[in-house]
Amino acid sequence: MSHREFRQIAVIGGGPSGIMAAVRAAQMKKDVILLERNKSVGRKILITGKGRCNITNSAGMDSFMEKFGKQGQFLRSAFYRFFNADLIDFLGKYGLSVKTERQGRVFPSDDRSMSVVKALEKALEDNGVRVMLGARVTSIRRDEGMFLIALDNAVEVLAEKVVLATGGASYKATGSTGDGFHFAKLLGHKFNPLRPGLVPLKTREKIASDLQGLTLKNVKVTFECSGKKIVSEVGELLFTHFGVSGPLVLDMSAQVVSMLDSGKPVYISIDIKPGLTEEQINNRILRDIESHGSINIKTLLKEMLPLKMVPVFSGIIKLDASKRINQLTAQERRSIAKLMKSFVLTITGALALEEAMVTCGGIPVKDIDPRTMGSRIVPGLFFAGEIIDVSAPSGGYNLQQAFSTGYLAGEGCATAREGTNA
Ligand SMILES: Cc1cc2nc3c(=O)[nH]c(=O)nc-3n(C[C@H](O)[C@H](O)[C@H](O)COP(=O)(O)OP(=O)(O)OC[C@H]3O[C@@H](n4cnc5c(N)ncnc54)[C@H](O)[C@@H]3O)c2cc1C
Repeated sequence: MSHREFRQIAVIGGGPSGIMAAVRAAQMKKDVILLERNKSVGRKILITGKGRCNITNSAGMDSFMEKFGKQGQFLRSAFYRFFNADLIDFLGKYGLSVKTERQGRVFPSDDRSMSVVKALEKALEDNGVRVMLGARVTSIRRDEGMFLIALDNAVEVLAEKVVLATGGASYKATGSTGDGFHFAKLLGHKFNPLRPGLVPLKTREKIASDLQGLTLKNVKVTFECSGKKIVSEVGELLFTHFGVSGPLVLDMSAQVVSMLDSGKPVYISIDIKPGLTEEQINNRILRDIESHGSINIKTLLKEMLPLKMVPVFSGIIKLDASKRINQLTAQERRSIAKLMKSFVLTITGALALEEAMVTCGGIPVKDIDPRTMGSRIVPGLFFAGEIIDVSAPSGGYNLQQAFSTGYLAGEGCATAREGTNA
């Protein structure tokens, strides 16, 4: 026997964007229900920032928007209405204190993502949002100007307005299985193809697995395709059993994935000594030869490289590492310097969307009003969070996007006139 509930606003998805939309609409005196398929809200938040949750970034608005590339302008109103300081203030009201770390990354003071979820749960409770857990939406249809939402728990919700905040389609165990894209389609929206963003990359050479677990800090990484530089940055890289990962690789991965789609080979070139030229590395080896030429090559390489890389270097250059350094030929010296400046591996692909920290693609921004997050196609429908085709590198930008668009969507649907999104 199914039971029907009527609410002014139904928010689908209890992630950061949906929670914020529900709280904001409730603050504006609307009767709101938040529908979440899991037994608790904010499951994905728990795994963010390696369990510490990088909530936002202290960057200014312009550099924040730049992180979202061409789509950044779309977020101007959302950030203008509810930005990083507003978020910190909001979470503070519900008991969360924060700290700012390097590169402006903001974390909970106790390093626990659970504390963020607790603050959000308190916000939902204090603002009187009805939260229905274990409630997976299975379909939505329009019914005489209202939305009829079917759930898998024999409940139907009839709502005047709907916010779709179902997230992307990665780390599906957190509940983000991409249902929202299909609901949007059922209601008449198109969505851009889904691709992995912030995703580790696979390499052809076995070298990566030999170096598995090794982190290189302050290296310069350049991705190249058809002899042209795609993107290049300095930071931290991690070797894994299948290839490369770490913040630097993840941040550049969306561009690399687009190049891989073109079918052309892509290479990663790692500059292990970005502060030195090839000439300076060569001179340093020459000075070592002059001052203590009887040490062996392995000892020299150990001084210049992480231990795990020493056999890899010797192997690539075909050096007998037990030889004394004063036996190195000029050619061998140059090869060492060259390899330190350009350690090249072939990129064969990316891990699957499931393993990506964000989903690229989704509801195109041209179909959403940036002032309200309202659909330009379906009256009464609003979007928030990762379901929208906007994404940024790591650093707290994606969660701020979810909170800001959630806030605006909550406000937008609370104030929109009957039958419109304005
Ligand atoms: C490993 C990892 C680490 C990350 N770390 C960071 C970080 O430190 N900082 C940062 O800024 N970003 C980080 N991100 C990205 C960030 O988590 C997302 O951008 C953000 O969670 C998106 O919020 P959202 O509300 O749009 O969607 P989600 O958080 O995905 O929430 C969507 C919710 O909708 C629910 N749902 C889906 N379908 C249905 C349905 N049919 N019925 C009912 N409910 C449904 C889901 O269960 C889920 O709870 C990370 C992501 C991952 C995977």
